[in-house]
Amino acid sequence: MDSKKRIILTGDRPTGRLHIGHYVGSLRRRVELQNEGNFDKMYVFIADAQALTDNIDNPEKVRQNVIEVALDYLACGLDPEKVTIFIQSQIPELCELSFYFMDLVSVSRLQRNPTVKTEVQMRGFAGESVPVGFFTYPISQAADITLFKATTVPVGQDQEPMLEQCREIVRRFNNIYGETLVEPNIMLPDNSACLRLPGTDGKAKMSKSLGNCIYLSDTAKELKQKVNSMYTDPEHIHIEQPGHLDGNTVFIYLDAFCSDEDFRKFLPDYQNLDELKAHYTRGGLGDGTCKKFLYNVLNDRLTPIRERRLELQKDIPAIYDMLCQGCERARQAAVETMDEVRKAMKINYFDDKELIVEQAKRYASSK
Ligand code: ATP
Ligand code: MG
Repeated sequence: MDSKKRIILTGDRPTGRLHIGHYVGSLRRRVELQNEGNFDKMYVFIADAQALTDNIDNPEKVRQNVIEVALDYLACGLDPEKVTIFIQSQIPELCELSFYFMDLVSVSRLQRNPTVKTEVQMRGFAGESVPVGFFTYPISQAADITLFKATTVPVGQDQEPMLEQCREIVRRFNNIYGETLVEPNIMLPDNSACLRLPGTDGKAKMSKSLGNCIYLSDTAKELKQKVNSMYTDPEHIHIEQPGHLDGNTVFIYLDAFCSDEDFRKFLPDYQNLDELKAHYTRGGLGDGTCKKFLYNVLNDRLTPIRERRLELQKDIPAIYDMLCQGCERARQAAVETMDEVRKAMKINYFDDKELIVEQAKRYASSK
């Protein structure tokens, strides 16, 4: 692909601080992409409007977490000089585009979206009590992506059905109104353990809403407590018993985070993760040793992030300034795309000189 035309976009809901699932699923990739510099534009946004769709009773939670997410971004190494960081609700064009996209999607298509199905269930919305805004969030998400003409969207696997639906909307729009919008590509993590990191409780997904997270900002003490209480193999009661790796969160996290270098530093009795896994499955290796190693690995990755965050927290107004500038920059791009969209949809009445001349002629000839 022409690197000039590469536009990267991704976002997170301000429903809590960011956790290691976000890190391995998307954040780590964003920082790498940013540092490689092989793109025309890169946007990262805080999806506050989307967070409100299922936190309607708790606007304060969303408001408070905007700054938390921004701090996590910067602590992980996102650089506002290279990346436009903005807040979703500050871009009114997103609502406008979503409104037009609503005509292109049927209720049954939304009902079939597997992520919507799971998330509706997870949030306990009974029957048809799901808020329309939440139910239709794949549509607003398609607007988030296409308004910035994003080509590349680095996200976790739960977002696959969203991207597919977005691509359908783009095709439908372009078929009806002419080539205007860009079909985005999903960029999933290469490492399969990172596609959807499970929670510390062994549940399918680490998620802010499930309270089973290791946060990037957790202290070393919190991290130790969480790792020590992690779900492993319930059948592995005595050290000498063979352990199972399937669904064992300690090993899944090690798959996502550790390198051979970590063994040299923290567990030199083993060369690499394969050796550790072999010993565990053979029997004779306790969960305690594996958890201690995992703690050391995670603490090694999280310490610099934690320290940078503490520094950043000293100047909160500067973070809001950075966000404000990001919103202005994002808005400029949004306005440009929306002009093109209105033109394609033939609703740009006052810019369309031909239309006015045509109508005037029509009436002149009918005199
Ligand atoms: P919420 O529970 O409020 O939906 P969340 O923890 O699911 O929050 P999101 O803001 O919905 O987080 O997701 C932001 C990004 O992080 C998305 O790209 C998503 O795919 C990715 N992500 C979230 N959780 C995980 C996870 N456990 N493993 C891998 N990627 C994840
Ligand atoms: Mg989510």
